[in-house]
Amino acid sequence: MTSTERPLLNRRLAEFGTTIFAEMSALAVATGAINLGQGFPDTDGPEEIREAAVRALRAGHGNQYPPGPGIPRLRTAIAEHQLRRYGLSFDPDTEVLVTAGATEAIAAALLALVEPGDEVVALEPYYDSYAASIALAGGRRVPVTLRPHDGAFRLDLDELRAAVTDRTRLLLLNTPHNPTGTVLTRAELTAIAELAVERDLLVVTDEVYEHLVFDDAEHLPLAAFPGMRERTVTIGSAGKTFSFTGWKVGWVTAAPALVDAVRAVKQFLTYVSSGPFQYAVAEALALPDSYFEEFRRSMLARRDILAEGLTAAGFEVFRPAGTYFVTTDIRPLGEKDGFAFCRALPERAGVVAIPNAVFYDDRQAGAPFVRFAFCKREEVLREAAGRLRRM
Ligand code: PMP
Ligand code: GLN
Repeated sequence: MTSTERPLLNRRLAEFGTTIFAEMSALAVATGAINLGQGFPDTDGPEEIREAAVRALRAGHGNQYPPGPGIPRLRTAIAEHQLRRYGLSFDPDTEVLVTAGATEAIAAALLALVEPGDEVVALEPYYDSYAASIALAGGRRVPVTLRPHDGAFRLDLDELRAAVTDRTRLLLLNTPHNPTGTVLTRAELTAIAELAVERDLLVVTDEVYEHLVFDDAEHLPLAAFPGMRERTVTIGSAGKTFSFTGWKVGWVTAAPALVDAVRAVKQFLTYVSSGPFQYAVAEALALPDSYFEEFRRSMLARRDILAEGLTAAGFEVFRPAGTYFVTTDIRPLGEKDGFAFCRALPERAGVVAIPNAVFYDDRQAGAPFVRFAFCKREEVLREAAGRLRRM
């Protein structure tokens, strides 16, 4: 085979195609539909933080390569945030790494910690970059499926235990969980921690929605559970918490040896990124508790508007305990194929959503589920709900 006949994209990534977020956002632009697909807010975060970025840029802070691990001020702010919120203490110099969003943190962690052939156990449905990053690392993905039960998607701990083999290298967790909105409970996290210790597993935990938990749900960082501090890579992101998804400032907190390993990969992916924005995010992390509480409350109000609108439109709604996504079941509408439904929805109703099937190995298991994002202005959510009801 000549080099032009051979497929250009390497075999590891061939199955992935274009991410659903790009496809659906392009569809929203092309049709003028309301985009409740890709999870980005339609209003920017706090004005004072925007101004902090402008000030940094004008002052020449971060316009040249920032330090590889991230600017000291931001690493300190990340450590202080983990201490203030969770009582977890990290050394800003050895236990914190700034990344190009959570996406790079996920990729770098998996490329660093997984050898070809290692098994990675991940909750399914999974955020789409997990599967691609595991594949790039040459790992084998072993999904453990969250299943609907009493109005929420729940983890079966026996299934999780059964998924772990002698080849399992790490658990890849996500809580609050995209796309289902599930927040793992203290009992579940305790069991996961016990399993990780017993089987000597590393854990990568994606906690980018840590500030978006509702009702009586509580975000508990896995790193705080017994035996986990030394084996857990925790991932956070400014994109979600401060509504600046385009800035791409994320971070890793972990024990020094884990941070070293992740940094060894990260230095060859981007080396560094987001110079001036790092200064602004350092200020954002130091905002008073009232900012985080108001942000949470405003998303809670939007969740209720969208959840009620979708219920009125005939969807079965899984009211999320966290994140800014709501997963629905379309079968009560007489539909069963989320892909076909989402591709037709902009024409039918002027709304864009995401078919959860893309987050499943077993596409059939995810077929009837469709995700809507509620990080949009209330009037936009009401308009979208009205369109869906009239559909
Ligand atoms: N993890 C999850 C669960 C997400 O939903 C997203 C999307 N924001 C990311 C990671 C990526 O975050 P970032 O934009 O910071 O790369
Ligand atoms: N995390 C966002 C979501 O789930 C999308 C981010 C992206 O487009 N990569 O909608």
